[in-house]
Amino acid sequence: MQSLTNRNQQVERKPMTFAERLYLPSIFKGMAITFSHLFKKTPTIRYPEQKRSFSAVFRGLHILNRDEEGRERCTACGLCAVACPAEAITMEAAERQPGEEHLYREEKYAAKYEVNMLRCIFCGLCEEACPKDAVYLSQTFAPSNYARQGFIYGKEELLIPNPVTQPEEYAKAKGAVGKDIK
Ligand code: SF4
Ligand code: SF4
Repeated sequence: MQSLTNRNQQVERKPMTFAERLYLPSIFKGMAITFSHLFKKTPTIRYPEQKRSFSAVFRGLHILNRDEEGRERCTACGLCAVACPAEAITMEAAERQPGEEHLYREEKYAAKYEVNMLRCIFCGLCEEACPKDAVYLSQTFAPSNYARQGFIYGKEELLIPNPVTQPEEYAKAKGAVGKDIK
């Protein structure tokens, strides 16, 4: 038969020797290979007890950032949503009312801000597009979930803890990626 690659080989079907018929040499050879792996460094880790350190450019879950006074930075300009190639971000803008200056940094804020993690490809374009340093991708995974609805993250999940009232939680949430973000 004509071959496309010229890599086909004729297989010789010689009768098995006595040792081959015993199968013992092959079994010992296989056991030796298995046993040799006991002394090699294992490439796997025991997650979640052990965790690998992330690359400096790892992009995980989104965080909605606050300023140093704890006010929400997002001004609901929509640039992140426009930049998103997966159309994963939706938001609703609202106007800041008198007396809410301690809550929102700008006159307009996102009353609703949602990221659909099933659509998101973690490209980071939303982070690049934001003029207010209000959104960035952290070094946290999206936890697994049984329901699709569980992957739509709202402000409750995305908003970073308040640095004034919850400094420890804020530092933890900000993590290594956010350390340079003001
Ligand atoms: S990381 Fe990329 S895909 Fe995900 S929300 Fe931001 S812009 Fe969209
Ligand atoms: S996160 Fe940034 S880009 Fe997106 S709406 Fe808020 S201020 Fe605008």
